[in-house]
Order: sequence, then C-alpha cells, then structure tokens
Amino acid sequence: MYNSFQKHLQKELAEIEAAGLYKNERIIESPQGAEILVKGKKCLNFCANNYLGLANNPELIKAAKEGMDARGFGMASVRFICGCQDLHKKLEEKIAEFFGTEDTILYAACFDANGGVFEPLLGEQDAIISDSLNHASIIDGVRLCKAKRFRYANADMADLEAKLIEAKDCRFKLIATDGVFSMDGNVCPLDKIYELAEKYDAMVMVDESHSAGVVGKTGRGVTERYNLKGKVEIITGTLGKAFGGGVGGFTTGKKEIIDMLRQRSRPYLFSNSLAPGLVAAGIRMFEMMSETNELQDKLHENTDYFLRRMKEEGFDCKPSESAICAVMIYDAAKSQQYAAKMQEESIFVTGFYYPVVPKGEARIRVQISAAHEREHLDKCIAAFVKVRKEIEG
Ligand SMILES: *Cc1c(COP(=O)(O)O)cnc(C)c1O
Repeated sequence: MYNSFQKHLQKELAEIEAAGLYKNERIIESPQGAEILVKGKKCLNFCANNYLGLANNPELIKAAKEGMDARGFGMASVRFICGCQDLHKKLEEKIAEFFGTEDTILYAACFDANGGVFEPLLGEQDAIISDSLNHASIIDGVRLCKAKRFRYANADMADLEAKLIEAKDCRFKLIATDGVFSMDGNVCPLDKIYELAEKYDAMVMVDESHSAGVVGKTGRGVTERYNLKGKVEIITGTLGKAFGGGVGGFTTGKKEIIDMLRQRSRPYLFSNSLAPGLVAAGIRMFEMMSETNELQDKLHENTDYFLRRMKEEGFDCKPSESAICAVMIYDAAKSQQYAAKMQEESIFVTGFYYPVVPKGEARIRVQISAAHEREHLDKCIAAFVKVRKEIEG
C-alpha cells in the first residue's frame, strides 16, 4: 500500500519544491539569542520571537532547574484526572495578575488555547466575527465551533461593523482578533473594536501572542495600550515568544469563561499538564516583569532606533507599534534575493511574499529583541544598505 502513497507524497513534495515553497530549516548549534551559531558560524538573529531576550536568561534557567528539583520532570497526567501542582495554580494567578483579569487556564501551547476556546463556549445560535488575518490557530479553533462565522477585512472597522449588523440576530457574538498581526506588525485597533462590541452587544477575544511583553508601556499588551485592562472577555497568549520562549499557552479572562473551559475545553481535558520546570520558569518570568520594566524599555528603544535609522537610509518600513518591522521590497523575487544576501552577511531575516502577504507586497520581516545591542542593530542596517546596493546597483 505505502508504495503508491509514497509516490503521491514524492510528487507533491516535488511540486512544493518547484514552486519555491519548500521550507528548509536551519540548524542552530547554540542557545537562542541575538547571536547564534549556525554551521559553526556566528550569525545575528533577527527572525526569532524572542522579543524580551529571555530565551536564554540565566534566572529563568535557574528557576526551571529548581522547579524540576522540587516538583520533578513531568506530570504524566491530565488535570481533571490527576490534579495539578501548586506551581500550576500559582502561574495561573500570576498571568491573571499581569493582564488584570479574573482567572487563567493553562494549555500546552497557545495553539491549543485557541483550538479549545470557541467550541466549549458558543453554539449554533451564536456568531464569531474574525479578522481575516488572524493566526492559523484561531482559524482552526473557529472551524471546530458550531457558531456562525463572519470574517472582516484586516483591522477594517467599517467591515467589522457591517458583519456585526449581519450577525445581529445571533444569540451571542464574539469578535476574535490578533493583538499584533505578524506580517505588518500592526496593532489591532482594540479601542474601536471594543466600542463596536459595546454598540452591538458583542464580546471580544484578543490573542496577545505577539503583543504580550511587547505592546504597551509595561508590555501588558494591547489592553494596556488602549486602557482596556480587564475589559475584554477573553485573552489568549503564549509562553513561547516574549515570555521566555519555552512552551506553554493560556487563556485568561472572565471567571465563568475560564471555569467553563476547565469543564469542556478539549485540549485542556485531554492533553498533558505543563512540565514543572516550564511552570516554575514561567512564575519567575512574571515576577521579573513586575520587578522592572528594563527589558520592555530596551525593546521599545531598539525598535524605535531601528525604524528611524532604516528610514534615514531610505528604506520603506511599515509603521509598527510592535517589535515586528516590515521592510517593504514589493517584488517577490527580489524579496528572496534580499533574504538570501542578508544571510550571506550572517543576518537572519525572513522574506515573505504572496500568498503569505498580498500580491506585490513582498517584504523582509525583521524582528527586534531586547537581546539586541546597538552594534547588532547597526550591523543589520549596514547589511541592508550593502545588499540593496548589490541588488539595485
Ligand atoms: C505563535 C502564535 C500562536 C501559537 O503559539 P504557541 O504557544 O507556539 O502554540 C498563536 N497565536 C498567535 C497570534 C501566534 O503568533
């Protein structure tokens, strides 16, 4: 049997490769950081979600080790059967404290949090109104739910209003949006979304994966940025980006919503609890966040500096309120040339083109981190200037 299936897969894989869409992974031989080792060569990393530079933070490593010493390696169980540790409850409290919410539920990843948030809460009589650029995990989560689906153009408030009107006869309505959209780095207009939600009696769910730790003066995310802390019903997020870059996801928000998720959310009920080491490091991470704003400040300074210098050098960057800087190249083939040549300069950035971004809007995405020092940013900018000269002449 496998023979024919193997041929089928080989053919499809060849097609992916021919279309230039085959994903090759680079092998990193060092911890994650501003500088990484690839094939024995030192490179600068500008394509990680390591926004606060915590992925190799000594205090988090220490906390993880101590957590393992105190509570062991793994849980080997789901929570509703075996329970959880004191550490898990403490981390859930810390997350709620950070976002100013009522309660939190942990998942193995934010992909699971989003996969398990809609189906337990909403049914056929209800509506989910979702931004067209929402993360794949929100899209999948919505698919698993029986609620009616409406999609509005990215951050387009007129379109959102039109969809809210279309959905007005549904019992409950939930607007779902990413906090920061990962291709442009734009922050969702949560102030206007919230106004429309009030006007049309809808609830709001924000995925803060790219915005938590980043957006807002103290990195509390888009609800801080728009003075809406504690107001939106549901926030989801990850421990895999700014918050240390390990693994783990969460949903935080209104008490009854979290209660219901503990009863009915399938990725929570039927998947293993987070490992104690990760949980202990998570607790320490949120403690650090409340002790100092140093990392958030540095990240904001770095992003401002990078965008200002790139503009001075004549590059066309999308305005960004996050740590994602889209350097617009427009032409798809050229964007790939840029990315390849930047790599030759030992700078890792990602080139995106259609269908990941709209046609004619190819770009290089640069992700800034608090781990970057001024010299790293300067090297990246100098490489952009050099590569542009090579390509554009
Ligand atoms: C990265 C990301 C996720 C997935 O997070 P994991 O914890 O890695 O599963 C979900 N939503 C958004 C918006 C993301 O950017």
